[in-house]
Amino acid sequence: MFDSGTLQLAKIAGIPIRLHWSFVLIFLWVGYQGWQDRISIPQILYLEFYVITLFFCVLLHEYGHALVARKFGHKTRDILLTPIGGIARLESISEKPSQEFWIAVAGPMVNIVIALLLGAFMLLSGPSEFFERAAAFPESDASFKSFLPLLMVSNVILAVFNFVPAFPMDGGRILRALLSLKWSRLRSTRIAARIGQFLSLVFLIFAALQGHWMLILVSLFIFFTAASELKQVQWETVLGQKNAGDLMISRFTTLDAESPMILSMELIQKGMERNFIVLKDGQIFGSLSMSDIIDAMKKNGHGQPIGEYAHPNLFPVTPDQSLKKVLHLMQASGHPLLPVVHMNEIAGVIDESQINKYVEIQLKAGADRMLAREKPLT
Ligand SMILES: [Zn+2]
Repeated sequence: MFDSGTLQLAKIAGIPIRLHWSFVLIFLWVGYQGWQDRISIPQILYLEFYVITLFFCVLLHEYGHALVARKFGHKTRDILLTPIGGIARLESISEKPSQEFWIAVAGPMVNIVIALLLGAFMLLSGPSEFFERAAAFPESDASFKSFLPLLMVSNVILAVFNFVPAFPMDGGRILRALLSLKWSRLRSTRIAARIGQFLSLVFLIFAALQGHWMLILVSLFIFFTAASELKQVQWETVLGQKNAGDLMISRFTTLDAESPMILSMELIQKGMERNFIVLKDGQIFGSLSMSDIIDAMKKNGHGQPIGEYAHPNLFPVTPDQSLKKVLHLMQASGHPLLPVVHMNEIAGVIDESQINKYVEIQLKAGADRMLAREKPLT
């Protein structure tokens, strides 16, 4: 969703920190609000500085997740900062409830620690004033003395908001981890996602009544993220049921890298196959997809060798590999189909669209409901 339009700010502890371009909107929005409320330039700068500091706390929160995940052997691809919050994008998600629990808890705990440290600092430096300022939040005047109480309260709000037991908040992950002790991962996810969607609808009605567009966006984001989290676990559960060998097609056409492209053009017009395995000297060479063939048609490449349009570096899978692993390999390598090799021979091919269709049919038939009832693997 947020892959393009990011700028890498730094790399700390081996994790790149990326800023999404839309982050600029936050600064513009704060400036615009300040201008509308007719506050002075120094006060606007003060608010901008507050936003930067707050997002620094969000960044520390994400490092909380990332560093605990690393302890369990899960790498973090990057930490992305967007106007509606940070995301630590893990390369792999832990399916062990206890690990998921600690990874999720670590984020909001960072904000609690920051709030406690700020509180302790302020108590030591002048208690009476601190309570006055904190009580005046958020109407506190724009000065450095009101800055720390504001930051402390903000961190408490961040922690509380993230502990809400609903997807996609950290609290939703904590809830799923706890439910997973008793129920299947799918059923636990469904409960956490449904709570997330219910709460986001309540937020949405409230935001719409208030005319608060930022909150409207956040509630819509929560609603759709909860839905996609659930969808992903539904997919993973269905995919986990079958192996490459169960779905592979044993009647397939291979193409030779030296043959002309026109051969493949005729095949997609006549046959059922859309993507092909390309061989060179009898060995697996690469894949040729329907879009490669259409590309060749556009460029009038009827007479050119297939090897020119094929994508090389095609690695075979074995019949006992899970569909989850196969789909992951396809997405990582960009090949729309893979050869299934058994005893040094191509026993069949497995196609990405075929896997997708299989999962969709299973989900329509309600297979996920059956699977959700299964006991967790312990
Ligand atoms: Zn978090």
